[in-house]
Amino acid sequence: MGDAIFQQRSGYLGVGIVGRCGLLTPEQLAGLGTLARSLECRYCKMTTRQTLIFIIPENRLEELRAGVTALGLKVGVFGETVRNVKACAGNKDLCQRALSDVFELGGQLQDRFMNRRTPCDFKIALAGCHRGCTDPLCADYGIIATGSDTYDIYIGGRGGSRKPVHATRIAAGITGDGVSALLEQVLERYDALAEPRERLCNTIKRVGLEDFLPPEGFLDPYRPPEENDFLSFAGF
Ligand code: SF4
Repeated sequence: MGDAIFQQRSGYLGVGIVGRCGLLTPEQLAGLGTLARSLECRYCKMTTRQTLIFIIPENRLEELRAGVTALGLKVGVFGETVRNVKACAGNKDLCQRALSDVFELGGQLQDRFMNRRTPCDFKIALAGCHRGCTDPLCADYGIIATGSDTYDIYIGGRGGSRKPVHATRIAAGITGDGVSALLEQVLERYDALAEPRERLCNTIKRVGLEDFLPPEGFLDPYRPPEENDFLSFAGF
C-alpha cells in the first residue's frame, strides 16, 4: 500500500496521476503538458485504469507532486487498497447511450473510498449502460447504470490474471446512495472474512457468496419507490 510511484529499470520513476474518473478539463490537460515539459518527463502513458503515468527523473518527484496538486489532481495509490474509480464516458455530453451521470457517482465513490486499506487490490468499475465499456464484470465491485439513478451491482470480478473471473450480481435497481452503502458493507465483510492478500474473488470462492449478500431489508431505502414492488417480486 502506498503512492503509485515505481522505480523503473532505466533509473527513472513512473508516477501514476489520477483525475476524477479519467476526466480532465482543458486547463488540466494544458497544465499537465507544461508540467511534463518542465520536469523533463520522458513519456506520458495513459493506463487502462484511466490514470496517467509520468516517467520522470527521480529528483523531480516533489515538483511533480506539487504540480499535480495545483492542477486539482492526485498521485495515485497501489497495493492493498481501494484504487481510483474507473468510469466510462457516461454522461449526456460524452455518450449518447449513457443512462445516468456516472462521473458524478464515480467521483463521490472515489472521494469516499479511494486509498482505504483492503486485504488485497480492490478495483471499482462503473458503466453508464449494459454495454459495459469499463468491464464492470471484471472488477471487484462493478456498477452498471440501468436508469437515471438506478444501478446493478456485481462483485468478485478479476480481469488481469491467468484465470479471469466474472463478477456475480448481488443487487439490482438500487440508487446511487445504495451503491455507496452496499460498497461500505461489502468492504466490511471483505475485511472480516479475507485472508491476508486474498483477492475478493478468492474469498468468495472460499467462504461462499452468501456472506456478501446484503442483509434482508438493507437495500429497501435505496430503491426508487416505483421499482420496489417489482424488484421484491423478482427476488432482489
Ligand atoms: S458503457 Fe454505455 S454509457 Fe458507458 S461509454 Fe459504453 S456505451 Fe457509453
